[in-house]
Amino acid sequence: MENEKVPYPVSIFGESVFNDSVMKARLPKATYKTLKKTIDQGLPLDPTIADIVANAMKDWAIEKGATHFTHWFHPLTGITAEKHDAFITPTNDGNVVMEFSGKELIKGEPDASSFPSGGIRATFEARGYTAWDCTSPAFVKDGSLYIPTVFISYTGEALDKKAPLLRSTEALSNQAMRILKLFGNTSPLLVTTTVGPEQEYFLVDRENYNKRLDLILAGRTLFGAKAPKGQELDDQYFGRLRIRVSEFMHDLDNELWKLGLTAKTKHNEVAPAQHELALIFDSANVATDHNQIVMETMRRIAKKHGLACLLHEKPYDGVNGSGKHVNWSMSTDDGQNLLNPGKTPRDNAQFLLFLAAVIKSIDDYADLLRVTVASPGNDHRLGANEAPPAVISMFIGEELNAVLESIETGKPYDDKGRVKIDIGATSLPNLPKDTTDRNRTSPFAFTGNKFEFRMPGSAQSVASPCYVINTAVASTLADFADRLEKASDFMTEVKAIVVETVKAHKRIIFNGNGYSDEWVVEAEKRGLPNIANTVDAIEVLKVQKNIDVFAKMGVMTGVEVASRYEILLENYSKIINIEALTMLEMANRELIPASLKFLASLAKLNVNLKSAGAASKAAADMLEKVASLVDSFAVRTAALQTAVDAASVIECPKGNAQAYRDSVVPAMADVRAVADELEIIVPKEVWPIPTYADLLFKV
Ligand code: ADP
Ligand code: MG
Repeated sequence: MENEKVPYPVSIFGESVFNDSVMKARLPKATYKTLKKTIDQGLPLDPTIADIVANAMKDWAIEKGATHFTHWFHPLTGITAEKHDAFITPTNDGNVVMEFSGKELIKGEPDASSFPSGGIRATFEARGYTAWDCTSPAFVKDGSLYIPTVFISYTGEALDKKAPLLRSTEALSNQAMRILKLFGNTSPLLVTTTVGPEQEYFLVDRENYNKRLDLILAGRTLFGAKAPKGQELDDQYFGRLRIRVSEFMHDLDNELWKLGLTAKTKHNEVAPAQHELALIFDSANVATDHNQIVMETMRRIAKKHGLACLLHEKPYDGVNGSGKHVNWSMSTDDGQNLLNPGKTPRDNAQFLLFLAAVIKSIDDYADLLRVTVASPGNDHRLGANEAPPAVISMFIGEELNAVLESIETGKPYDDKGRVKIDIGATSLPNLPKDTTDRNRTSPFAFTGNKFEFRMPGSAQSVASPCYVINTAVASTLADFADRLEKASDFMTEVKAIVVETVKAHKRIIFNGNGYSDEWVVEAEKRGLPNIANTVDAIEVLKVQKNIDVFAKMGVMTGVEVASRYEILLENYSKIINIEALTMLEMANRELIPASLKFLASLAKLNVNLKSAGAASKAAADMLEKVASLVDSFAVRTAALQTAVDAASVIECPKGNAQAYRDSVVPAMADVRAVADELEIIVPKEVWPIPTYADLLFKV
C-alpha cells in the first residue's frame, strides 16, 4: 500500500549504510552474487568486479551527500584512523567530474610512517597500505564514504588489529568446521564468532570538563577529593534517566541506527553519571567496527548536548570504573549457536566438546588473554578491588558444573541420585539460561549460550580480546579434530577428550566470589596466573607457547607479535608520561598558586586579628595546617618532576615502562594525596577546578 507508514526507527535504520539491500538494488546481478560470496563465505575477492562496485558505491554515496571517501582503519593506537580524498577528478575543460575506481576502493596508501609499527618498518623498510575489508559494510558519515580496511605492511605484516582478527576468525571457522563434520553436522558452510560488546561510559557537563586539563588531556581526573556522596545508596543503577542524558541517548540511538548499528539496550550504571549501551551481537569483525563507531559517536553527540563523554576506565577515584563486557560465542552460517546446549544426546555431546575446548583454551592461554586487556587505564580496575580481579577464571554455573563432575567421575549428577550424565547417551538436564545466580564477579562467565568476558576496558578496541580467544579456541579445536579424525570409535573418543579436559583444566573453573581475598589465595594454590599490572602482562608476549599458538593458527608471525610487545610498552610509558606532565602543569600553574593565595590570605587574616587584639586559635591552626600542606604539595610535585625526568631518558622500552610504573606512578599518587587534602579545606571560590560533586552530580 502506498500510504503505509514505515514505523520508526525502521524508516531510518541503515539509511547511511551500503548494505545488502543497497547492493542488491544497485549492482548487476552477477556482480552482486560474486561479492556476496566473498562476504558470506570468506572467498577471495574477485578483482574484476571492483570497478563496478566502486562506481555503484560512489553514486550511492553522492546521493547521500558524500564528496569524499576514506579508507578507515584500526592502527595500533587503539583508535581508528582516516584520510579523506575527494571524488573529484579534473577534466580538460577546467571542470571536475566525480570518480572512484576499483583500485581506489581496494587499496589505499596512507603515510604509514606516523603509525606505531614496533620496528616492523625499520626491519623491512616497507611502507604500509590499507586493503578493503568487504565483510564489514561501507557507510556514509559527515560527507565521506567510509570504507572499512585492514592495514598491512608491503611485506604482509599486520600493522593493525583487524588483520589478526580476520585471520583468527578464519582459523576458528576452519577448525570448528572439522569438528562439525565429524558430528555429521554438514549443513553449515562456515562458523563465525559472534560478539556483543556492552559499552560503559561517563557523561560530564562540558563547561566543567573544559575547566579540567586532566579530563581534556588524560581522560580522567588526576586530582579530586571524594564527593560527600558517591554510589553508596545504589540509587543510580537502572535509575530514571535525567532529561539531558535521555536526550543525549535518544540522539545517539538515532545516529547509530542510521549507520546500521543495532543499539538496543541503554541504562544508568552503578556510579553517578555512568551509563551503558549495548548493541545486538554481530560477527566479531563487524562488532569491532561498530564498537569503534559507538565510541566516536558518543563523543560527538555528547558535545552537541553540552556534555563530554568519558570512555576512560577510571575517570574518578572512589566510584566504579568503566568496562566493556565482550559477549562471545560461535555460530554457524545457518544459525546454530555452538555454545547452545542441544536437545538430543548427540547435540549435547557436540556442545560439551566445544565447551571443553573453550575451558582448555582459556586455561592454557589465560596469560595471553590477560595482556589483551592490559592498559594503564585498566590497571585502575583489574585487581584493584573492583570488577573483575586480575586472575582469570571461568564461571560455568552450578548446573553445568555438576554435569561436568558427573561426566568426569561417572557419579550421578544430582544429589537425588537420579541421573548419570553419559556423553552421547543421555540428554543434559535443562540448563537454566540467564539464571538469577548469574555471577557478576567472574572475569569469564558462561551465561547460558555464550561467554561474557568482563575484563576489557571501556576505552579499548574489542579486536585483541576477540582474536586471542579465537586463536586459542581454534588451536584447541585443531588438536581435538586431529584426535577425533583418527579415532576408531568417535563417541568414545569425544567422551575421552571431554573427561580428560575437565580433569586437566578444572582449576580454571571458579563459581564463587571473584572479588574475595580468599580467591586470590586459592587461585595461587591452583597455579593460576595473577598478573597485577600492564608492564608485567606485556611480558607474556615473550613466552614461547604464546608466540607458537599465533604462528600455528596463522594469526600472527613472531615478528608481528614482537612488534606488538614493543608498541604496548611504548604506549604504556607515553600515557603515564602524559598523565604526569598534565599533573605537573595543573599543580604548578593552578593548584599550588591557588593554595598559596589562600595561605597568604590566612597570614594576613592572622596579622589583622592579632593587631585588633582578637588573635584566633582557629585561624592560627588553619594557617599552620595550610602552610604545611602547601609545602608538602610543592615538595612532592618537585619529586614527581624528578621521577619523570629520570624515567623519560631510559631508552630500553621495558626499562622505560618499569620506571614509569615503579617511580612515576607512586610519585603521582603522593602528589594527588596532598592536593586532595588541601582541596577540602581551601574555599570553593579559591579552588580553581570543578570538584567531584560538580563533575558527578551536575550533569
Ligand atoms: P547483560 O545482562 O549482561 O547486561 P546485555 O543485554 O546488556 O546483557 O548485553 C548482552 C549482550 O550479549 C548483547 O550485546 C547481546 O546481543 C549479546 N549476545 C547475546 N547472544 C550472543 C551470542 N550468541 N554471541 C555473542 N553475543 C551475544
Ligand atoms: Mg548489560
